[in-house]
Amino acid sequence: PTTSTERGIAAAEAHSAHNYHPLPVVVASAEGAWMTDVEGKRYLDMLAGYSALNFGHGNRRLIEAAKAQLDRVTLTSRAFHHDRFAEFCTRLAEFCGMEMVLPMNTGAEAVETAVKTARKWGYRVKGVPDGRAKIVVADNNFHGRTTTIVSFSTDPEARADYGPYTPGFEIVPYGDLRALADAVDEDTVAVLIEPIQGEAGVLMPPAGYLPGVRELTRERNVLFVADEIQSGLGRTGADFACRHEDVVPDMYVLGKALGGGIVPVSAVVSSREVLGLFRPGEHGSTFGGNPLACAVALEVLAMLRTGEYQQRATELGEHLHHELGLLVGGGAVDAVRGRGLWAGIDINPALGTGREISERLMERGVLVKDTHGSTIRLAPPLVISKEDLDWGLDQLRAVLAG
Ligand code: PLP
Repeated sequence: PTTSTERGIAAAEAHSAHNYHPLPVVVASAEGAWMTDVEGKRYLDMLAGYSALNFGHGNRRLIEAAKAQLDRVTLTSRAFHHDRFAEFCTRLAEFCGMEMVLPMNTGAEAVETAVKTARKWGYRVKGVPDGRAKIVVADNNFHGRTTTIVSFSTDPEARADYGPYTPGFEIVPYGDLRALADAVDEDTVAVLIEPIQGEAGVLMPPAGYLPGVRELTRERNVLFVADEIQSGLGRTGADFACRHEDVVPDMYVLGKALGGGIVPVSAVVSSREVLGLFRPGEHGSTFGGNPLACAVALEVLAMLRTGEYQQRATELGEHLHHELGLLVGGGAVDAVRGRGLWAGIDINPALGTGREISERLMERGVLVKDTHGSTIRLAPPLVISKEDLDWGLDQLRAVLAG
């Protein structure tokens, strides 16, 4: 491995597609909330792999669970049963208060699975005429990168050049119940939304929106599919972001933190009426539900069942949002949104783009990621200490002060 940031970046640029624009840091190791680069400089990770690292880097419990499984069996494919699969599905269904699980690997695959599941339910159970199933989604959504998923993106960058696009989706403004009610018709099989829109800049729907979606979908016999890939599993201080509004959707789509930052693990979790529709050969994945993934996810679920991480996210999140709130109105910060250890911060554009702010934070040893315009978001590992969080906030204040 290289010991030079410059050489590491040049080599990556030369031989990888430029579908990302990483901050100019080359990470060599990490522990807890901290990463160390190839030159030995330490950085506080305030992104946590877009919430895939909720339990921090190198979490001992997760590493031990993975190591133990590595020595036993890592992959069988679903052609055979393996001895971690039933426990994984049982525990995950239990954790979600649901009945059945369909495991996949990445978030986008799980969203694709949710789309296929909802359509199948629409044809087989609701009685939608063949080929007419409609799924209503929100603008500014982010559900992944497959051709079908970018077909219903409103982000021109994510979408351009990838047509022809998959039909069967209608886009309505996020947070607008009236528009949603107008869009839902007799061919509608699902409403697919993020309870908090992460990639859009940690956008919160207005109070009452999620219960309104729940009521509408129940009345109209439509599945409520909650993409909790980024918002779920502790990030907002609850098991699921929907819980803050006492909402239980018909289907959870999960990913990211479910794999403990070690392996990609995603899943669709729902009722027997819905997931019970699948027959052999109708969907699948070579790696979905593999023994290593199940072993790590089982440890993730055991950790989440303690409630400790949700509580940390709640307590540290209150502190984070109190501190960030003090910055609003002082000229440097236009708005702050979020819940738990998750924040979108709209910086005054006069101070720079989100990218420029991120680079200045990087120079001070804090790693964050910008989204559109002058927005940055914070999503540190839930295991971050209060002292480290405060230190990160000090660096942010220093950057904003110029
Ligand atoms: N859904 C949401 C809400 C996400 O935030 C993401 C990733 O950022 C995805 C889906 C896609 O997940 P993946 O990148 O694992 O395909």
